[in-house]
Amino acid sequence: MCVPSIPVSRRYFLALAVTPACPAGFGLWEPRLVATPPGIVLTLDACMGGIDRRILDLLLARRIPATLFVTARWLRGNTETLALLRANPGQFDLQNHGARHIPAVLGTTRPYGIRPAGTKEALAAEVLGGAEAIISTGAPRPLWYRGATALYSPDALTVIAGLGFRVAGFSVNADQGATLPADAVSRRLAAAKPGDVVIAHINQPGSAAGAGVAAGIAALADGGARFVTLAAAEARGEVRPLPCA
Ligand SMILES: [Zn+2]
Repeated sequence: MCVPSIPVSRRYFLALAVTPACPAGFGLWEPRLVATPPGIVLTLDACMGGIDRRILDLLLARRIPATLFVTARWLRGNTETLALLRANPGQFDLQNHGARHIPAVLGTTRPYGIRPAGTKEALAAEVLGGAEAIISTGAPRPLWYRGATALYSPDALTVIAGLGFRVAGFSVNADQGATLPADAVSRRLAAAKPGDVVIAHINQPGSAAGAGVAAGIAALADGGARFVTLAAAEARGEVRPLPCA
């Protein structure tokens, strides 16, 4: 996956035979991901709902690159924000968070009580529907997918790979689904190291966690951290799975 002379589609075919993943909650699995230092990859999920301007305005003001994992559902309700993002294509990278925000789990396990895709067909519709929604905005075809809840059944990982998407793990969970207090989120983010791939949420303007995301990113930037989008890091062959803890 690190050989730039190979066409992207072929590269992904080769890279996706297996997605390494680690045991996580609910008896499900999660891939872990890191980048080559010094860049920190901010991946911000936009599951549904709105946009957290505390975070977006900071990113815009300080020209901090970030990757947004968006759903078709979120895109439909946030056309003004989408225009802002698309006006800064080098800064913001749109990747695939699915069509309707359904967990990428085959079978009946419900992570956090959320009904999963259940079948291969439903999962394919979720993954491809998310990608098509991004493409229809005029943005480049997404190459990365992150399922709702970021937990996966092993057979779901195989289905996603077969559809040509890499699964976006992470190495720092900054906000635990936007559930943590601002101070805790800020501390987690500020402790991120060069090469970390951070997950947080940018779709919950009313959450305390969002204030912590903004404060943590600002602290990192103040400390001289460098940021890179997932697409840019991937294009340079600077993204790799992180072994299980
Ligand atoms: Zn989500």
